[in-house]
Amino acid sequence: MIIQVALPGPFLTALDYGVEPNFQTEKLQPGVRVCVPFRRQTKIGLLLAVDVKPDCDPDKLKLLIEVLDDQPLFSERELAFLNWAAHYYHEPIGEVVMAALPKRLRAGEPLALPGLLSWQRSAMGREISLDQLPKNAPKQRALWQALSNNQAWSSSQLNQQFDAWRPLIKRWVSQGWLEEREGSCLSHNELADKPGHQLNAEQQAAVDQVLAQQAQFAAFLLQGVTGSGKTEVYLAMIEAVLAQGKQALVLVPEIGLTPQTAQRFESYLQKPVVALHSGLNDQERHCAWQLVRSGEIQVLLGTRSALFTPFANLGLCVIDEEHDLSFKQQDGFRYSARDLLVRRAQMSNVPVVLGSATPSLESLYNVEQGRYQHLTLTQRAGSAQMPSIRLLDIRGERLNEGVSTPLKTAMEKHLAAGNQVLLFLNRRGYAPVLMCHDCGWQADCPSCDANLTYHQAWHELRCHHCGFSQKAPLVCPKCQSKEFVNVGQGTERLEQVIQSWFADKQVLRIDRDTTRRKGSLADKVEQARSGEADILIGTQMLAKGHHFPKVTLVGLIDLDQGLFSVDYRAAERMAQLIVQVAGRAGRADRKGEVLIQTHHPEHPLLRSLVAEGYSAFAKDALAEREAAQLPPYGFQILVRAESFDPQHALDFLAQIKQVLLEVRVEAPCEVWGPVSAPMERRQGRYRYQLLLQSQHRRSLQAWLSQVEADIYRLPLVSKVRWSLDIDPQELR
Ligand code: ADP
Ligand code: ZN
Ligand code: ZN
Repeated sequence: MIIQVALPGPFLTALDYGVEPNFQTEKLQPGVRVCVPFRRQTKIGLLLAVDVKPDCDPDKLKLLIEVLDDQPLFSERELAFLNWAAHYYHEPIGEVVMAALPKRLRAGEPLALPGLLSWQRSAMGREISLDQLPKNAPKQRALWQALSNNQAWSSSQLNQQFDAWRPLIKRWVSQGWLEEREGSCLSHNELADKPGHQLNAEQQAAVDQVLAQQAQFAAFLLQGVTGSGKTEVYLAMIEAVLAQGKQALVLVPEIGLTPQTAQRFESYLQKPVVALHSGLNDQERHCAWQLVRSGEIQVLLGTRSALFTPFANLGLCVIDEEHDLSFKQQDGFRYSARDLLVRRAQMSNVPVVLGSATPSLESLYNVEQGRYQHLTLTQRAGSAQMPSIRLLDIRGERLNEGVSTPLKTAMEKHLAAGNQVLLFLNRRGYAPVLMCHDCGWQADCPSCDANLTYHQAWHELRCHHCGFSQKAPLVCPKCQSKEFVNVGQGTERLEQVIQSWFADKQVLRIDRDTTRRKGSLADKVEQARSGEADILIGTQMLAKGHHFPKVTLVGLIDLDQGLFSVDYRAAERMAQLIVQVAGRAGRADRKGEVLIQTHHPEHPLLRSLVAEGYSAFAKDALAEREAAQLPPYGFQILVRAESFDPQHALDFLAQIKQVLLEVRVEAPCEVWGPVSAPMERRQGRYRYQLLLQSQHRRSLQAWLSQVEADIYRLPLVSKVRWSLDIDPQELR
């Protein structure tokens, strides 16, 4: 008897192993983990198939050592799905399987779950007030304050809000202030009350249409304007599916997965929900995975990789903000979580709902082709109205630190009315370029083709591409001058000038620099939401998904750079970003206003977007793609390679191209390159790419499959870093 085992590593297919003659064969179920010898080690893999015909002499095969599980971790359907993903993305099956397993299971830990520790104030602890803690220990006091809510706190909850909490908790346990308890796996919050409002007619129609087809695969694009209440639509559908004892899988973008999102789901559904987020430790991930796999928990809310979690009884798939780029994994196994989710729903025979205010052109094209059903929400939920959007022509206009007078005047008006203002600038730091005033010297990154950004708070120059940083120079390294100019503007600089203009207002900056500390993003978003801050300044972290009821004015400071990109997808991304940012305005009962500063008011993208909205823009953009036969009308595969010696990567790609040109393909397929990546040098490596293109997906895939094994055998393969990107989202 022979078994096939998926092992992590650069082997495209599963590996064959033999089995001792007296082995209990009923243990060999596809989907169990096994221990097998590999080179001189023992490795853990997943058994995929039994009794297959080997490619080589069966007597030469190495033998299975041990079976780790007495039940399969994945169903047959789920294994078929993982195989499909490996095949489609040309990714080694072992790597795909490992992406679907939590770390502890990859390491061979038992499937059964240990308990989870949590801490709660004891009777003695409840007597301890903040006054009994040292005054000069703010962290200690903040932690004790949090524990004073009389709930049990698990380590993931503590991790989300505090650093270095363990020693304090330990001390308080030994002092008898806290009780330590071992509970079942994930701890749960008490459920808040279910929100009272009724779905409006459009929302209800969307829910009804999906539920009418819930017994089979069907794909839906839910296109709802910002603030239209898409989440309530998902929740109503999920509720109906849960009532039948089935489960739901919900994917959200990285920044969309906050504790508030999970709580909103729990209070609506009145059931515990598992959220797979980056704050969980390995044990909690294992636990979450197992609770969903066993069916104990019915709803899984997660970012892209949650898509691979096994389910006991999947009934519905949902992906929110389906256009979001965070659904595309950009390194290692480069999959599109959106595309895979649709495939998984199809293989599981359940409906899938893709939601967005600004759907991707791919999804709109799928609607046009009849593959997805279109559900629309044209009105904002409740009493909110859509904001008015206006372009501010700033050509020749005197700008004060990048802000025009009309924008400043509008800010004054909205602030005087007691409302909040949001300013959007997608560049963090103080200034993107530091230049010598006398000789024109510029600070560049030593290992990338990029400028260093000046950060005033640390008086540092930082590379936003590789993480390099150094103290900002006091004298010019070229001419010894002490005169520098900061060219351009980042959020740090904008914050400074805005604060000086509106000295009595509270300004809150939200970008990656101000939200590094754990829990600070949640804190800041809460300050923004509650209306504590008057003026919000932020990058795209602030632009998406958030609901800030008091914001009535949104100002977009500088988008012009993005209007002229070499990437054909730039227009789509830009339009999505503008609509999403604009969508933060006027979400409650006060009408909102959006002002976009630009030097290019005639730009067709801006004009069609402002005059006619996203759908009209998307229609034009799709027509352009069709004329150029670009995706979604054509298909692409990008082969990337990088190396310290540029010649290695270039030669490697040239050799791949040569092999490609030697094999036959049915339909016309083209290969372009090698060309240098838009940023040729990054972290010291030179980067090149080869673009494969065709109108026929199957032929393009077959073309690559024919040469794939040859790529792994090229002598240069060990000298370069390389990757395949199927349906690339960014040509970088
Ligand atoms: P989006 O479509 O932008 O994701 P949300 O789902 O965040 O919108 O909803 C926006 C706001 O409208 C939320 O505060 C939500 O509670 C509220 N809301 C949603 N549906 C209704 C409804 N039918 N009646 C009243 N308020 C609603
Ligand atoms: Zn100089
Ligand atoms: Zn760099």
